[in-house]
This record gives sequence, structure tokens and C-alpha cells, in this order.
Amino acid sequence: MPKDTPYLRFQRNLRATMDVLKLSKPECELLNQPQRIHQKDISVTMDDGKRATFPAYRVQFNNARGPYKGGIRYHPLADEDEVKALAALMAIKTAVVGIPMGGAKGGIAFDPKKVSKKEIQAISRAYARAFSAYLGADIDIPAPDVNTNPGIMAWMRDEYEKVTGTYAPAMITGKPIGYGGSQGRDTATARGAFFLLEELVEGEALDPEHLRVVIQGFGNAGSNMAHFLHDAGFTVVAVSDSQGGIYSPEGVDPVRIEKYKKRTGSVTGEYCEGSVCDIGKMKMDGVRHVSNEELLELPCDILIPAALDTVITNKNAAKIKARYILELANGPTTPEADAILRKRRVKVIPDVLANAGGVTVSYFEWVQGRSGEQWTAERVDRELRRVMLTAYKDVRREVHRGKVTFRQAAFIVGVRRIVEAMRVRGWV
Ligand code: GLU
Repeated sequence: MPKDTPYLRFQRNLRATMDVLKLSKPECELLNQPQRIHQKDISVTMDDGKRATFPAYRVQFNNARGPYKGGIRYHPLADEDEVKALAALMAIKTAVVGIPMGGAKGGIAFDPKKVSKKEIQAISRAYARAFSAYLGADIDIPAPDVNTNPGIMAWMRDEYEKVTGTYAPAMITGKPIGYGGSQGRDTATARGAFFLLEELVEGEALDPEHLRVVIQGFGNAGSNMAHFLHDAGFTVVAVSDSQGGIYSPEGVDPVRIEKYKKRTGSVTGEYCEGSVCDIGKMKMDGVRHVSNEELLELPCDILIPAALDTVITNKNAAKIKARYILELANGPTTPEADAILRKRRVKVIPDVLANAGGVTVSYFEWVQGRSGEQWTAERVDRELRRVMLTAYKDVRREVHRGKVTFRQAAFIVGVRRIVEAMRVRGWV
């Protein structure tokens, strides 16, 4: 068994929290493992007529506070350990923001960039069919995550409704607006984090005009965050995607980057084709090509990891220049890196708080799906802000009370709420 995996890292944070809360042995044992792990190999016919099989997972971590909730990711490295860790983080996250849901996560191990749209549809439908018995509006409600999107949620809802013979708009969230989705869900993860950052900036009497931001990842969360920050006067000095990034001390323009990303498939598309970059044009525009590793260590005030896990480790934590880290990705920082950052007084707003805007608006979508109501974009925005700021204040209170980091405080708030629900239910 390897010494360090995403789930072992989660358990390390959990153990420290359980010690602070002085939980009983049965309580610790119940929290230490997911309630259910479903694994199935799903088979689909590919465009060439051959059958292909992919390992697929749904891990249901805890449902003491409400139905299981959490996204599904498509990634070649998705495996049981990672999905377990992500499911556990979802349970903490829903508790931190106080929405009446538990935590789960799903994943399929394949590279969506190497298959056709038709094949993605077949794989998505096969997943919904294979796991349909474990899903449902009152049981477990999936949503988008890395490499999944509203179109995929629509296929899954349709497949689920076919298999179960029901009408089930609330069995999945993150759907397209015209097919049971909610206003504001597409931008929710970034929007929630933006509200926190506004509060932080005000609390620390900082001026956005003087704050330089680096964003790793230009998917849903990263790209929307770049727009919100740019529009609010922050200077976004660097962005990246899986192929690398661009850096300009004067600031980059997210609108322009988005345009080239759409056209060429990469954020460096205005300057580079594959690994060949037009150095002359880059010089003229004052931008430089950076790798994802370099990007994390660039001079800036706020660093926003918005891609995959385990990017801030004991190898680079000492070299990070940012004073604030806002975790839009799930699990980007290892516990060793956390300890180094703490010593260096870098403030880390952890994933379970920072990126909870996504699941919060998913909850609003679920409420709308069950009631038949349709909320306005303004209402979603207002309610999201309220939920995020309440969670932020709850966590900050714990930071001051226990003299702990934001991550430790968020875990304390989340785990305490889960345990209270487990006690009411008589599980422990
Ligand atoms: N995948 C997102 C997350 O990690 C959203 C989950 C949801 O909306 O259920 O928080």
C-alpha cells in the first residue's frame, strides 16, 4: 500500500479533527470509511464497432445529513482511492455550507479528450444505467465535476428516467437551463469563491487594484473565476490549462484567452501551436510561456489552484510567493504542504469552503426540481452569497477560537455537524 494517496491524506486531516472534537471510537470508525463503494466495469460500443470497457465508480461517503451528493469526473487517473477522497470531501463540504445533503462522488477512468462526442454519450448513458439503482432525488444526486458538463447531465437524467420509468428532474444537478437546470449553476463554483475573496479582501483592508492573481486551470471554475476577478479590478497575471500557461506581470485578458482557447483548444493558443511558440509576438505583448509547475511559484498575491489534486506539495510549498491560496480545485494541497504554508503564514482558504458554491447552487437546483419553481438569476446569486458568507463566518469563528488554520476549522465545523446528525439518527 503506498504511503501517500488522496484518501490517506484525507484520513490524516480527519484524524486531527476527530482528536479535537474528542469523538468516541464508534463515531471515528463510522467516519473513517465510506458507507458504500460501488464499482462496475461499463461496456460500450465505440465508433469503430468494437466494445470497450471502462472502470466506473460511485462512492457514497455519508448520508447522515441528507441524500448523498457529489459530481462525476471523467479522467484517465480516476480510481477508487481518489473517488473515495473526493466523496469524503463532499460530505464535509455540504456540512460546512449547511445544506441538507451528504457526500458522494463518481468517476469513470478514461480520457474524454480521446473519444468522440457520440462515444461520450454512450459512456455517460451506460454509467447512469449501471448505477441507477443507487441514484435518485432522495438517495444520491450526481452533478458535473472534472471533464463533465450540463450536456452529460442531460443524457444521464434521460437514461435514468428511461430505466426507472419515472420523471426525475431532481435526480441530478448541473443540467442545461432548458432541461431542469438552474440559473447560475454554470458559474456557481467561481461565484461562491469570488464572494469569499471579496469578504477576505475587505476584512484585510486590501485593494483589488493592487492584487495580482495566478489561476491554475481554465475549466469551468478557473475560467469563470478569471472573468469575475478581471471585472472586479484584480490583475490576473497568469492562467494555465493542462498544456501549460501564460504569464504577464501587467495582467492577461481572460476574454481574449477564452476566445483563443475556444478556437485552438489551449490558453496559450494565441501564441503557441503545440510546443512551438511565436516568441516575437509574445515579447511584443509582454507575455511569457510557463509550465504548470512554474506557474504555482510565480510572484503574486493570490494563488488559485483550479485544476486537479496534489499540486501544492512539500516540494514547492516553500517556493510559493502568494500570501493567499484559494482552493477552487478539490484536494490541491497535501498536509505536508499545509504545515509549511502555515509556518510561512500563507492563508489557505480550503476546498471544502472555497469551492462549495457549486454544490450550493446544485442544492438550489434540486429544490427547484422538486418544487417545480424557477428561481431568477438574482435570487440564486443573493442566496449563494448568503450561504457562502455564513459558512465563511462559521469557519472564521472556529479559526479564532481554536487558533487553527482555515482547513482545520472547516473540518471541525463540517465533522461536528455530521456527527450531530449521526447521533440524532442513533447510528453511534
Ligand atoms: N463537483 C462539484 C464539487 O466538487 C459539485 C458537486 C455538486 O454540485 O454536487 O463540489
